[in-house]
Amino acid sequence: MKAKKPGVTTMDYSWLEVDSKACNGCGLCVEMCPLDVLWLDASVPYMRYRDDCWYCGICVAVCPRKAIVMTDLPYLIR
Ligand code: SF4
Ligand code: SF4
Repeated sequence: MKAKKPGVTTMDYSWLEVDSKACNGCGLCVEMCPLDVLWLDASVPYMRYRDDCWYCGICVAVCPRKAIVMTDLPYLIR
């Protein structure tokens, strides 16, 4: 993951951004991803297989801390 600004990490090659200060490492986003493309790394989610993500937004919707945002539209639908 790349540091974008303090407290915020951007998943490599991904349009999902995680606020690592807001994230409490609960793992709900990982558990709820229907395609199993998220993992926790040092208690912050990251994307393993970007091309398998269907941009469904479930991880964004279920996060109790509003720590995940979609920063951009997927390149496939641009
Ligand atoms: S659901 Fe939110 S708070 Fe929980 S691990 Fe995922 S990003 Fe962090
Ligand atoms: S947008 Fe959907 S498929 Fe992609 S990581 Fe989040 S829950 Fe998984």
